[in-house]
Amino acid sequence: MAAELQIINPKYAASAVRPDQYPAGDRGEIAFLGRSNVGKSSLINSLCNYRGLARVSGEPGKTQTINYFTAALRERNGEDIRKIPFFLVDLPGYGFARTGGKNRQIWSDFIGQYVTTSPRLTLLCLLVDLRHPGLSIDCQAYEWLTAHDIPLQIIGTKADKLKSSEKQKNLAQLNRLFPTAYKAIAYSSLKREGTQQLLAHMLERLEPAT
Ligand code: GDP
Repeated sequence: MAAELQIINPKYAASAVRPDQYPAGDRGEIAFLGRSNVGKSSLINSLCNYRGLARVSGEPGKTQTINYFTAALRERNGEDIRKIPFFLVDLPGYGFARTGGKNRQIWSDFIGQYVTTSPRLTLLCLLVDLRHPGLSIDCQAYEWLTAHDIPLQIIGTKADKLKSSEKQKNLAQLNRLFPTAYKAIAYSSLKREGTQQLLAHMLERLEPAT
């Protein structure tokens, strides 16, 4: 029988825009990044089973801090229960360029700084809208992150808005465009689709190597 996975005790811990504001601790870290309005807050809330944890916003691009939450991943195998504490990190949505012309940046410098100066970061979940695989801004994000060797999980959001055949087609396209160690996951916060698959990959990344 497959293990049952669940996130327990999610709790807001800190907000940061600079490394000296990152909370201390030796737990592993899993971060979530994506274009504003991609469904990141909804995914975090559904994954944690906690409606108001990350704010679902009608105003894209508003949250501009890195938000840390403490939580634990609970694995249950029959009578055996294991709890692995970790930091869940909500990064600001990208896509609202601050500067124009050739130096157009898709995200604030502190997102790049976070990604490159967080030794605890063990998996970065890059969210893209499953209806629109291959948007240029998502391609830029992917290229930047892979150039910096960041371990990635691609997640296609709002999967419930697609018919099954379109879903499979777009998922295959995501895997072609954004190859990573893990296959892309079709996720729906509304239908809770993709949760167990994502939690299983998180567990693999958080488990201490034996
Ligand atoms: P964020 O800006 O990336 O944090 O996106 P939000 O979580 O605030 O979601 C943006 C909009 O997409 C909201 O209107 C959500 O209700 C909607 N949304 C998010 N996830 C899903 C989903 O899985 N299915 C559907 N149908 N709508 C979603």
